[in-house]
Amino acid sequence: ERYGGEDISQLQHALQCASLAEAAKASPALISAALLHDIGHLVDQHSEGAAAAGVDRVHEKIGAGYLDKAFGPAVSMPVLLHVAAKRYLCAVDAGYFDGLSAASVLSLDVQGGPFNADEADAFIAQPYAKDAVNLRRWDDLAKDPEAKTASLDHFMGYLENLTATAAP
Ligand code: FE
Repeated sequence: ERYGGEDISQLQHALQCASLAEAAKASPALISAALLHDIGHLVDQHSEGAAAAGVDRVHEKIGAGYLDKAFGPAVSMPVLLHVAAKRYLCAVDAGYFDGLSAASVLSLDVQGGPFNADEADAFIAQPYAKDAVNLRRWDDLAKDPEAKTASLDHFMGYLENLTATAAP
């Protein structure tokens, strides 16, 4: 499936995001969150074209709910917060907005726009908010039609390890 209004597929985007997390030596849980952060778009049958039509399908909530059962909060919470992290970064990083893709600027609007200073403070005080901010920065960079990444199988190893450790 195509990644929103970008020139890459959802799979390329997921693999690039996970590769950036791995290169940054993120934890296995955060690499997994990077891989799966947009799964809410894929499990939601009404996702296609929603942002362009001005509708926010809250893919971060759909995705986090889906992931929490299998992986717990270290994976699901950064996913849940990755949209709010964009609103946060717009508030605290003056250059951030200018680096957003056209599709991200469009979705920012339907997602509620930049946080004000109080909202930004409240956001970053939450558990997993810093992980979500890191994920967001990889997310924004993971839109390169030419990027080479490791395979899905490579990253599936992280998921299998997480579920193995989570099992009773
Ligand atoms: Fe994304």
